[in-house]
Amino acid sequence: MKAAIHPAYEEINVICACGSTFKTRSTHKGDIRVEICSSCHPFFTGRQKLVDTEGRVDRFQKKMAKSKDLKDKKELKDKKQPVATR
Ligand SMILES: [Zn+2]
Repeated sequence: MKAAIHPAYEEINVICACGSTFKTRSTHKGDIRVEICSSCHPFFTGRQKLVDTEGRVDRFQKKMAKSKDLKDKKELKDKKQPVATR
């Protein structure tokens, strides 16, 4: 690396709104504040953390449940059919 042309790449703290912090390396000066991190993102926690706008999430989940029901029923029907043995 050429001297004196690269920004300082130092260890900094990332502070999340949920209170968790972790260290990373960045050329950013000082700490970084974030709103969501791997400790509180629903993808990692499995917990729902969504703002339900006009019941859209609710409607979507009902729709998904209905389609799953139909799929289950179809699989049941498929199982009832005799298996051709030859
Ligand atoms: Zn967090």
